[in-house]
Amino acid sequence: MPHHDLSHPRLEIDRQRAEFADAAVEDRFNRHHLPERSAQLKVSLLFCAAFYVAFGATDVATLGPGPTAWAMIALRVLVALVAAGGCVAILRRPESVRVAVLAASAVEVVGMAVFMVLCWYQPAATAWNVMSQALILMAIYINIPNRFVYAAWIAAGSSVVFCAMLMTQGFLKMDDMVALVLLLILGNALGFIGARRFHLAQREEFRSAILLQQLADRDPLTGCYNRRVLQKGLLDAELARARRYGNALSVILCDIDHFKQINDTHGHAAGDHVLHEFGGLLLAMTRETVDSVVRYGGEEFLMVLPETDLEGARTLAERIRHAFGSTGSAVELGRFVTATASFGIASVPALDPDAPDTPSVLLEAADEQLYAAKRGGRNCVRGVSVTSDRAWSIA
Ligand code: GH3
Ligand code: MG
Ligand code: MG
Repeated sequence: MPHHDLSHPRLEIDRQRAEFADAAVEDRFNRHHLPERSAQLKVSLLFCAAFYVAFGATDVATLGPGPTAWAMIALRVLVALVAAGGCVAILRRPESVRVAVLAASAVEVVGMAVFMVLCWYQPAATAWNVMSQALILMAIYINIPNRFVYAAWIAAGSSVVFCAMLMTQGFLKMDDMVALVLLLILGNALGFIGARRFHLAQREEFRSAILLQQLADRDPLTGCYNRRVLQKGLLDAELARARRYGNALSVILCDIDHFKQINDTHGHAAGDHVLHEFGGLLLAMTRETVDSVVRYGGEEFLMVLPETDLEGARTLAERIRHAFGSTGSAVELGRFVTATASFGIASVPALDPDAPDTPSVLLEAADEQLYAAKRGGRNCVRGVSVTSDRAWSIA
């Protein structure tokens, strides 16, 4: 469910690594893309494995049918088995980003290692093998979904090993060697640039989606959620979750006292400033990834507090009431406005078989409590425990 953990998200992209600088955001991005990416990964791995084995025909053609050719084919089958194992691992742990990255990297590393052995035993086919290496580079950079950094290291590393191996063998003439090195540098550069562009573009798109979502869900004056988030079912979801797990759930409706007077006395801009401070205080005093703060009306806010019983909600409301009432908001240089607020709490107790199944019951109860607080002289907290057919006041 939406909470205010992304009210100030760190959305910078590290352009070197082509990843979000913040690991938590990168993780969110990866989770978002995981189903699509795993599907692509499985197809690419099986596709590459099939070709890897099919090229065994060239081993037989080059070396003639014999133990060396069969050993080559066995090695190719080994790579295919690693690829199949990777697919099984992805099927077994579909929710794990780490398993997907590990499967892609393992197949790439084993595939490249085996490729070096195949090339070592078939120096006559070196020209073809150079071409294969260049195409495999594209598969590693572009087709097999992996972390950009890993793909780049595996592609560049295997290119260096490939060159070193051919130089050690000494079958290539100097001019062929130069062509080989240039070709592999070009292949790596093209793959690197293409892959990096793709990784960056995907993250820029994700960032735009988050920013747009925030614009749609947040009230610009206070940074709290707007009512759209409630209409999208924030409270329904929290209530359903509380009922499913037998957890307590509290909502606090709060309203600034005599706010009209603040506007009338100090001006609308000063009123806006007090609202901004109050919203900031509510966000700061609630749990960042658990609670939600909604601007419910003009100077009225709703806090949704999962796993919080009436006593917990009362303690929080008292702390906020005290903090707000005892600090002024600087509306102008040297001019402070102090205001107070009233709080109405409605709670569903933990393990309550009679917990209401519609949020309106909770909201109405909290609203009644807020009015009781207003009638009781304002700057105070009132609360009630709510079940489906009855509500009893405790304070
Ligand atoms: P009470 O203690 O009973 O809550 O009295 P109140 O004056 O706070 O309540 P009332 O509902 O009469 O007044 C709310 C005022 O809040 C009226 C409205 O002009 C003002 N208001 C609503 N939204 C905003 C806003 O975004 N900025 C400013 N500056 N004022 C707003
Ligand atoms: Mg008010
Ligand atoms: Mg009001």
